Amino acid sequence: MRIVFFSTQVYDKESFLAFPRLQNAEFIFQQPKLTVDTAVLADGAEVVCAFINDDLSAPVLEKLAANGTKLIALRSAGYNHIDLEAAQRLNLAVVRVPSYSPHAIAEHTVALILALNRHLTRAYNRTREGDFSLRGLTGFDLVNKTVGVVGTGQIGATFARIMAGFGCKILAYDPYPNPQVTALGASYLELDTLLAQSHIVSLHCPLSPETHHLINASSLSRMQQGSMLINTSRGALVDTPAVIEALKRGHLGYLGLDVYEEEADLFFEDLSDFPLQDDVLARLLTFPNVIITAHQAFLTREALDAIAGTTLANIDAWAAGRPQNLVRLET
Ligand code: NAD
Repeated sequence: MRIVFFSTQVYDKESFLAFPRLQNAEFIFQQPKLTVDTAVLADGAEVVCAFINDDLSAPVLEKLAANGTKLIALRSAGYNHIDLEAAQRLNLAVVRVPSYSPHAIAEHTVALILALNRHLTRAYNRTREGDFSLRGLTGFDLVNKTVGVVGTGQIGATFARIMAGFGCKILAYDPYPNPQVTALGASYLELDTLLAQSHIVSLHCPLSPETHHLINASSLSRMQQGSMLINTSRGALVDTPAVIEALKRGHLGYLGLDVYEEEADLFFEDLSDFPLQDDVLARLLTFPNVIITAHQAFLTREALDAIAGTTLANIDAWAAGRPQNLVRLET
């Protein structure tokens, strides 16, 4: 069984090779992203292993299926980037890693909050320049602040637990309330009420047609003056130009992003030798109260091990005719 991995970095290869080889499996690690042009690299591969910025649209899936692929093994929890209708039509099974380390993403979310609140990037640059002044570095105590958690599944619930530990009041919005979050003393509210009452709003729901641009000009106007927005979920939950306007007016006080709606051609690449072509991202990077990380929230040793372990178990189970962690088209 030939397995072609797309979008692989050194750390992916290391984590997969640390596990015992699957029987009769040949691993081929490809650095390029999967696109309609690079699909040819998977010729003859029964299994294609893809990551979040790989193109899994119908034309790419058609090419893969025509060249012998039978299984798409996603190395991610999110599956908004695959055309499930096309996969079903082409008899391609799709599996994913439903949970690898909710702590990795929740803890990175907290890192963004603390870095923004206490101006850590400015302070770091300042002391390295021999500037030991504190002007502009005033933060706020997290204790007694209100944190709105949008989406309280595995990651949102883990994040809520950490913030409750800081002494924050937790508000939640999710069509399916999580008893673990209610047990923290959190109240489930309508989204607009959560936005209006929170000092910090953090997004942890999946991207779907329903949640696309959940944060837009209208929802931003409901947020408190000077509040903080964090998105470690999926870029397109946020309408970026609307957020830029809110930052320019000072209505939005802080923005922390690990994801960006146009990240596919940027993130995971070293483009430092080239002029940045994305003017929206370039504008965002000019704000002192914005921190952007390049989709690194998942990047802990524990999460990488869990991604590799579950992906290999998914492939093994599928090869043995008892597939697990299947992603099915919702009807
Ligand atoms: P999960 O399935 O455990 O939880 C998602 C929650 O969102 C569920 O409780 C669901 O009911 C809720 N939800 C669905 N629609 C909603 C809506 N319209 N409004 C509010 N809530 C809604 O998923 P998870 O493991 O907690 O992951 C959450 C998201 O985090 C993933 O979808 C993925 O996009 C993102 N993620 C990001 C990274 C990263 O590295 N930045 C890594 C993993 C996952």
